[in-house]
Amino acid sequence: MARKFFVGGNWKCNGTTEEVKKIVTILNEAEVPSEDVVEVVVSPPFVFLPKVKGILRPDFQVAAQNCWVRKGGAFTGEVSAEMLVNLCVPWVILGHSERRSLLHESNEFVGDKVAYALSQGLKVIACIGETLEQRESGSTMDVVAAQTKAIADKVTNWANVVLAYEPVWAIGTGKVATPAQAQEVHLELRKWLHDNVSADVAASTRIIYGGSVNGANCKELSAKPDVDGFLVGGASLKPEFIDIIKSAT
Ligand code: PEP
Repeated sequence: MARKFFVGGNWKCNGTTEEVKKIVTILNEAEVPSEDVVEVVVSPPFVFLPKVKGILRPDFQVAAQNCWVRKGGAFTGEVSAEMLVNLCVPWVILGHSERRSLLHESNEFVGDKVAYALSQGLKVIACIGETLEQRESGSTMDVVAAQTKAIADKVTNWANVVLAYEPVWAIGTGKVATPAQAQEVHLELRKWLHDNVSADVAASTRIIYGGSVNGANCKELSAKPDVDGFLVGGASLKPEFIDIIKSAT
């Protein structure tokens, strides 16, 4: 089953109005493969979402970087899935390692968030990944399987889920996983989906890689058969994001 290449840009907690305009101008002026070949989704901080959505080229989409775990209400500082839907924001990133570690989001909490966001009609980029300590102790697959299971326990329809494998040791460190390391985990994850969810979901779910992807290393990573795209942090704020999008072909 063909899986369309997916490139997400996670702007994290960065940007001013001026900087956001500059990034969007670069994106809007870029020549990139068509929407049939690559799906591009950029994720500005909440406060810039309406602005970016309003000025971004129509073939690119936007994602929020988080949303609340259930219906909105008395949850000061949170943004609900319903609000994102109301603003016509189609995507949300959930379970990013920065939220798992800094804000103590557990596997179960992330699973609940993914299920709730999907139930409201959002599409989800669900992040998983092991720490350096976990990799060195040989538990990478156990960790990512447990993170995926917590999502699979709550989700019945995977059509709107992209799974982002983001080893924590590679995020923002400049230490990218080798193409072989990424392929090994992606293939194992696909097998896990096959054995624990369904053959169809395993074949159709996009598994993208994140962690120090840049214009120089993207081509080799994208050549791996189970790497269906990227979630890009630092480099998504730079012109080289265009080269990463182009690695789809
Ligand atoms: C991320 O935060 O999702 C990420 C992959 O960051 P970076 O590309 O900067 O490592």
